Amino acid sequence: MSLSQGRSYLAIPGPSVMPDAVLRAMHRGAPNIYEGELIEMTAGLFPDLKRVAGTSHVATIYIGNGHAGWEAALANVVGPGDTVLVPATGLFGIGWGEIASGLGADVQTLDFGRQSPMDPARIEAALRADTEHKIKAVLAVHVDTSTSAKSDIAGVRAALDAAGHPALLMVDCIASLGCDRFEMDAWGVDVMVSASQKGLMVPPGLAFVFFNDRAQAVRARMERVSRYWDWQSRTDPDLYYQHFCGTAPTHHLYGLRVALDMILDEGLDHVWARHAKLARAIWAAVETWGQGGPIRLNMADPAHRSHAVTALSIGAPHGTNLRRWTQDQAGLTLGIGLGMATDDDPRADGFFRFGHMGHVNAQMILGMLTTVQAGMQASGIPFGPGALDAAAAVIAG
Ligand SMILES: *Cc1c(COP(=O)(O)O)cnc(C)c1O
Repeated sequence: MSLSQGRSYLAIPGPSVMPDAVLRAMHRGAPNIYEGELIEMTAGLFPDLKRVAGTSHVATIYIGNGHAGWEAALANVVGPGDTVLVPATGLFGIGWGEIASGLGADVQTLDFGRQSPMDPARIEAALRADTEHKIKAVLAVHVDTSTSAKSDIAGVRAALDAAGHPALLMVDCIASLGCDRFEMDAWGVDVMVSASQKGLMVPPGLAFVFFNDRAQAVRARMERVSRYWDWQSRTDPDLYYQHFCGTAPTHHLYGLRVALDMILDEGLDHVWARHAKLARAIWAAVETWGQGGPIRLNMADPAHRSHAVTALSIGAPHGTNLRRWTQDQAGLTLGIGLGMATDDDPRADGFFRFGHMGHVNAQMILGMLTTVQAGMQASGIPFGPGALDAAAAVIAG
């Protein structure tokens, strides 16, 4: 008997759960884009975005998804024939590299596999080997959403400094901004890319590019930059439309206003601590289940696990069966496995992910875990006892 009627939980790693307050703010008629309240409201978004990113430098907003953010950031500092270094910890690192190669860049990939964070020592060695300083930028994904690997971005900066290498440090925080601690300026990040639909709790459609003076100096030396992606004309524009190189994403901006208020009212430190504790409850449950069954966390080291997404393996066909059961029988949609096996590989049915980013709280996570246990029981997947108690103990502790 299906028990899926009621409010569902889309526990996939983006788009994330959208707060009713964000949706309400978007539910309105078209505003005037030439004068009035929208113009002032937009001006207030940039300083708050910078607070969330931990930077005193420049924030820009693009209409687009995360891929657009990747392209926007690269288009300003990387051109045909330039070299970039991609330390990849999953599908998204590889993907950003592909965007760079589409812009004519020569992409050097350091592949750390699917279960490891970046090793700053290997990055340092690659930079030291580049004696002519051909590498113009290092493209690092803070949290790779496919593997849930979280890398030490300050450590990557230290590797650049130790090698005495002038490359820009560009970081993808699409799955981590507003979830995992990130401090752009303190960590020495030159360019940061994010998007609206994950920790920032707004529907897909906005990408954000933050950049500092070092990145701007590189931009200034570019022979040409696509007019649309150029961040220059979007910074301090004379006319409002220039912020977006065209019509503003009006309704998304209203939603973003409310989402930023929610984050800043809760307090960034609290937002990070909430995600951390909810993640620990998930890890405790999975580790306990795993003592009597096939479910495993993809990332072994807790220090390198995302607090916003958890990649898991459970063996084929259990992963797909479990996802079907929780969705059809209980109104809980889990994330598919991504990049762990090719689609035609039967092992692909053994991977899945939990999304726990943004507008999530203790009862949602405990409900998710209990539902997953019911799904394993119903699907004949063995699991160790006591996992829900372990998760509840983390929440209570
Ligand atoms: C989701 C995601 C992307 C891609 O974002 P889209 O909006 O799907 O284009 C890129 N990088 C990371 C780390 C992500 O989580």
